[in-house]
Amino acid sequence: MEEKRIKKNPADFSVQPNMTDYESTYDSFEWESVAKEFEGLPSGGLNIAHEAIDRHANGALAEKLALIWLGENGETRTYTFAQMKRESAKFANVLKSLGFEKGERIYTLSTRLPELYIGAMGILKNGSVMCPLFSQFGPEPILQRMQRGDARGLLTTQRLYEKKIAPQMDKLPELRTILLIDAEEDVNEKVLSLPRLMEKASDSFEIVHTEPEDMSLLHFTSGTTGMPKGVIHVHKAIYTHWVTGAYVLDLHRNDIFWCTADPGWVTGTSYGIIAPWLHGVTNIVNEAEFDAERWYEILQKYKVSVWYTAPTAIRRLMRLDIDPLKSYDLSSLRLVQSVGEPLNPEAVVWGVEKLKMPIHDNWWQTETGGIMIANYLCQDVKPGSMGRPLPGIVAAVVQQNEDGTVTEITEPGKEGDLALKPGWPSMFRGYLHNEEKYKKSFVDGWYISGDLAYRDADGYFWFVGRADDIIKTSGHMVGPFEVESALMEHPAVAEVGVIGKPDPLIGQMVKAFVSLKSGYEPTEKLKRELIGFGRKKLGAAVAPKEIEFQENLPKTRSGKIMRRLLKARELGLPEGDTSTLEK
Ligand code: ATP
Ligand code: MG
Repeated sequence: MEEKRIKKNPADFSVQPNMTDYESTYDSFEWESVAKEFEGLPSGGLNIAHEAIDRHANGALAEKLALIWLGENGETRTYTFAQMKRESAKFANVLKSLGFEKGERIYTLSTRLPELYIGAMGILKNGSVMCPLFSQFGPEPILQRMQRGDARGLLTTQRLYEKKIAPQMDKLPELRTILLIDAEEDVNEKVLSLPRLMEKASDSFEIVHTEPEDMSLLHFTSGTTGMPKGVIHVHKAIYTHWVTGAYVLDLHRNDIFWCTADPGWVTGTSYGIIAPWLHGVTNIVNEAEFDAERWYEILQKYKVSVWYTAPTAIRRLMRLDIDPLKSYDLSSLRLVQSVGEPLNPEAVVWGVEKLKMPIHDNWWQTETGGIMIANYLCQDVKPGSMGRPLPGIVAAVVQQNEDGTVTEITEPGKEGDLALKPGWPSMFRGYLHNEEKYKKSFVDGWYISGDLAYRDADGYFWFVGRADDIIKTSGHMVGPFEVESALMEHPAVAEVGVIGKPDPLIGQMVKAFVSLKSGYEPTEKLKRELIGFGRKKLGAAVAPKEIEFQENLPKTRSGKIMRRLLKARELGLPEGDTSTLEK
């Protein structure tokens, strides 16, 4: 891929002093040094809710806003750190009075309501484990995840309970109690009104003793490549959340931070709840779904300074005919970060043109618990690159050998498995009920991520594709991302998903599914034009030989293009698990 570079002058970035000299920060970094950022429990343990909320509520930030909640219908609710401490204490008292104990799993199934955030902190204060579900899941994926994760409690709303839980209560015999956020009265002895219980609960709670290695969250993966996996995290993960909050999101006390991810996915908890609060930063929560104008209005009205979003949202903004800086005052915005999928260079450049700042890509997974590789505010951005590893993270491109050993690839530009040296604090501690799969992720002292990448001579990492999505054509290995990004440069193209289609002559043929921007017609002529465009950019060996127009590409509910579904549909194969498919 032809390489561009968005030059930055580190002198302009006094806000990120620790990262202006990346190499020395990297070399001198030790994870244990992060311990000094936390207070610890009076009993000596470590608890996420204490570090995120209570510590601030007991100090100078007590009256500072922790949460600004923007309801779907225009209403707003705000909570200071002191209020959040009291509300989450009440919630923890409710759990305690119902007999919920340390380590028990409490699920959440709610739209982005304040009670979801209060509940998250309350669950952790009680030493219980939070297991977030995405509120738009249908009954079956909910049941399956609750059964697999041994759900004992559930925080949800009346509507979601009636629609998705009540019809299958008999299949969840171990589920003891359901707390309804918006019910005035109890439904029965198991299904209770939360407001009624909160009203009676004390607003002081002694946080249950948790150790850094105690389980805090159970998160299910996005299901992009197959059956979602239950991923186990511990309280110590906040070491990573704090460090990435400082170095990648560049959080400073006066920032207003907005993460658009839903807490049903790991970005929505690690960065939509925990990281900003660890830094004592005001966190914006928008209940409503994507709406370009509303989004720009939020950025403007609440003076958002750091914005964390995803490629799918950026591509949607790019599709529209809105010139944000002409219509909105976004002068407070100083950093945009993106995660979840490869960010096409075109999207980074759109940021430079339309927001007057590049979109900064970063890479991580549910399994890594926090950001591992990133483009930093103070460093040059190479559009299309995921950036460089975090201080304290050893990332490499490796080759797995037949004898079970792993060799590091040091040659710039050579592709291999993206791997990490185990031991970072937010590393997953297991796949739920699947010890074997967990063990298999570690080979010869490396965690193998399942993604393929290469590293350039400057140490920047470039995403090639998921190991499962790689296309072998005429003896070449082709990463779908490169082909997708090349086609994205054509003005008619809004989104692309690329697969390998079995071909007797060349092994696999590169096929691209394309959705068009509004105003373009899916004609044969445009198809030929795109094939020609691809050839010119990529060369005949790599360019797609077949193009198919689709109005919308199949995506996970977190917005990732599901290439495995494009492939299954193309080949008439079973679709596999579609619980996370966007409907
Ligand atoms: P599943 O594991 O169930 O198939 P998933 O891998 O999509 O789902 P997540 O943990 O939510 O579940 O996503 C992590 C994956 O998302 C990464 O392994 C990578 O493939 C992709 N990803 C995340 N960020 C980036 C990025 N910046 N560039 C490229 N790919 C990314
Ligand atoms: Mg994965």
